[in-house]
Amino acid sequence: MGKGTQAQRLAAQEKIPQVSTGEILRKSVERGTPLGLRAKGYMDSGTLVPDEVVIGLVREKLTGPECARGYILDGFPRTVAQAEALDRMFKETGTPGLDHVVSFEVSPDEIIRRLSGRRSCSTCQTVYHIEHDPPKREGVCDKCGGTLVQRADDKPETVLARLKVFDQQTRPLVEYYQKQGLLRRVEATGSIDQVYKQLLAIVHATRVA
Ligand code: AMP
Repeated sequence: MGKGTQAQRLAAQEKIPQVSTGEILRKSVERGTPLGLRAKGYMDSGTLVPDEVVIGLVREKLTGPECARGYILDGFPRTVAQAEALDRMFKETGTPGLDHVVSFEVSPDEIIRRLSGRRSCSTCQTVYHIEHDPPKREGVCDKCGGTLVQRADDKPETVLARLKVFDQQTRPLVEYYQKQGLLRRVEATGSIDQVYKQLLAIVHATRVA
């Protein structure tokens, strides 16, 4: 588990941007932008922001110059409609499609344990876990000294809603990308390092081939 942590690490190593729809939306909520105002209610309740909203913002990012050398999509697509829109965008713009789609696989019990222990820096967004990846000083970010907070949508009742949303709206993407030959499964119960090793093997396997 920990798609954001893994994406952040891979993006830093490969020197390509991490395009995280969740991060973009959370920042917009903090800043009180029109996008943020529209997204807040959905996010707080653990449901998905409407497709057209996220599709628009991903399109804007991926067609920008900073993504020209590649990128890591984190948390997008999350519905079949989003995946179809992404495929249409690749066709329309003539840009190469995805190399891999990684499914981080972990049991619902483990998800609940991890999300309830997750804390993130309110200043620089670095993510910690109170058991698996704690900061040196409780409640304080190692990198910038900012205050660590729990995300509103990591509260137990919201996590259950998110799991249900995942099953109903996101799980169908497994089949969608399996058919395209892009699906890679990662056993994500282990440590951050163990999971990252599997991710690197996937990325490096195709380079050599
Ligand atoms: P994440 O940080 O990826 O867990 O996303 C946090 C929340 O942002 C989700 O629970 C959704 O409410 C919203 N969100 C992020 N990505 C998407 C997406 N691709 N489609 C719809 N909603 C999204």
